[in-house]
Amino acid sequence: MAGTLSEACEDVNARNLADRKASPDATAAIEVTEAKKLVPVSAMRRPMPHLYDPDTLSPTDGVMRLMAGNRRFLDESVPSSARSFSRHHATAPQRPFAIVLGCSDSRTPVEILFDEGFGDLFVVRIAGNIVAPSVVGSIEFAASQFGTRLVVVMGHTGCGAVTATVKAIQSGLGSESKNIRDITDRIAPNVQHLVHDGKADVREAVRANVRASAHHLRHGSQILEELVLAGRLAVVGAEYDLESGAVDFFDGVPEDVKRPHAP
Ligand SMILES: [Zn+2]
Repeated sequence: MAGTLSEACEDVNARNLADRKASPDATAAIEVTEAKKLVPVSAMRRPMPHLYDPDTLSPTDGVMRLMAGNRRFLDESVPSSARSFSRHHATAPQRPFAIVLGCSDSRTPVEILFDEGFGDLFVVRIAGNIVAPSVVGSIEFAASQFGTRLVVVMGHTGCGAVTATVKAIQSGLGSESKNIRDITDRIAPNVQHLVHDGKADVREAVRANVRASAHHLRHGSQILEELVLAGRLAVVGAEYDLESGAVDFFDGVPEDVKRPHAP
């Protein structure tokens, strides 16, 4: 995906740059030319091809593989597979078994904490693991193009974006940056009911935000909703504990997932 889209963008940018060099004084004409070039790209509409691969892990098996990977990550005696390079795995067509929407927090590196490597996970990371249109588009793309059957929305304890949102609700003051407010404004409706008398449990707010994001993905996208209704896709919610390194799957988990016994 990255290759195709970035190549397309680079192509448009290169052509626009060439136009500017060719006629530096004709600014208005260039703007019209750019608009003409961009419109056909955004207007291209075709049905999304849906890949179905019977060998793709089921949602249940996907969750259990992630749980097993997180146990390996916590076991310091097991060497990490996330860091081992293989030219074949890095360049072969991708068939990720799970899509993970996580937070950008530098302490939540998705592949590492699930002990997965090249080509295993399609990861979207954004502050507060919010569901913005481009995030939904990325997940739709992976689910339909690669046949991936599991989406995990993963929040984490001590999330700065959720904490900032709670503080903004408490104080009535948001960030001076409208771009940061775009993040907190998406989290606020998910956690507002947890702020009472100026106090809120941030951990509960993190989980509420995960549940809301998962719900949004299940019902806010026609492509994803159809896959869920057809039993081809599951969207589950999880929380990564910064202090313990453990991931708890707590929302929408398939009933036949076998959880390991506590030690
Ligand atoms: Zn965070």
